[in-house]
Amino acid sequence: MSDLTFFIFIFAAIAIGWYLGRKSGKKKGAKNNQHHALAQSYAQGLNYLLSERHNDAIEKFIDALEVSSATFETHLALGNLLRKRGEHDQAIRVHQNLLARPSLNRISQQKAQLELARDYIAAGWLDRAERLLQELVETSAELRNTSLEYLVEVYRDEREWAKAIHAVNLLHGRRFKRLPGEWAPVQAHFCCELAEEAINGKDYLSARKHIDAALNYDRHSVRANLLLGRLEYLLGRPQDAIKVLERVPKQNPDYIPEILDLLITCYEAVDDEQGLEQYLGALLREHPSNSVLIALTERIQQQSEAEAAAFMGQQLALRPSLRGLGHFLNLHVDSAEGRSRENLALLKNLIDQLIASRPHYRCNNCGFSGNQLHWLCPSCKHWGSVRSVKGIEGE
Ligand SMILES: [Zn+2]
Repeated sequence: MSDLTFFIFIFAAIAIGWYLGRKSGKKKGAKNNQHHALAQSYAQGLNYLLSERHNDAIEKFIDALEVSSATFETHLALGNLLRKRGEHDQAIRVHQNLLARPSLNRISQQKAQLELARDYIAAGWLDRAERLLQELVETSAELRNTSLEYLVEVYRDEREWAKAIHAVNLLHGRRFKRLPGEWAPVQAHFCCELAEEAINGKDYLSARKHIDAALNYDRHSVRANLLLGRLEYLLGRPQDAIKVLERVPKQNPDYIPEILDLLITCYEAVDDEQGLEQYLGALLREHPSNSVLIALTERIQQQSEAEAAAFMGQQLALRPSLRGLGHFLNLHVDSAEGRSRENLALLKNLIDQLIASRPHYRCNNCGFSGNQLHWLCPSCKHWGSVRSVKGIEGE
């Protein structure tokens, strides 16, 4: 929203307040002093707006526009507008002003409480938001579900995963299959967060329980299968880990790069080099990507550098890519001599720098980019929308 719209909004709000004050003054006959004070607040508020003193203008607005059932929505809308503009302190001031009016009916009070909780979330004061929302869940039948949804947001930001799962269950009932589509994957991510914590704490029994719960919520959860693969490997069952990890490309080929390191480790643990090469070859044909190409080239390289270079050359002709080219040059630097070696090393160095300067991951939802796989996008807070970058510069 532009500043001009904001000014017009506040101007209109103050004008309405002044008009209402004037009207009530006429009705009751003896409110000339109050009328005068309101008119003065209005004029001052307008002055502050014109001199871009927003904070003072808001104060005058609160003074000038009496809180009543007729003006309640105007106050509420102004507070929400301020929150959207990132002016959290002012939004809190407007909504707290509403809550401090005992004359408002119960539902209006609760609406103001919900908006204040949203201000606190936006300002990062999560414990305050949590208290207000918990109270609304218990006391307001009308706002219970909306409050629960915001409570889930609060628990997510506090990384209180068990509480988040409980809040979603309160929202939609306890049985896994009753969860509506958009909540099932989210609930699975919450379970995966708990599973990760358990794995890191070496509590493998709990980890398995959380992974099972994640798969109950969303049986296509790639993340749950990645964790299950890791768990099987940690428990000394690399063959089982391989089976689990090999489900991932069928579920979502975008996550193939994420399975490769562990998959290779597991194949090495069961000493099945041939099986690994066959699997990587099949994966490259079905879902071509640079990570798989480089992994397969490295396997060939262990037997013959020349064969690996020829293989990479063929593949690059089919699917040119920076990472592939970097690896290709690497294969040739060692065997080159003199000036050619220097030139190849220089070129390789430049390509490495170019790759390092490009993000490896991007969010499909908001475009946020970085070099790490985030299951929860740090920017738009969507789950599972960050994927590896494709094309010449990526996979
Ligand atoms: Zn995003």
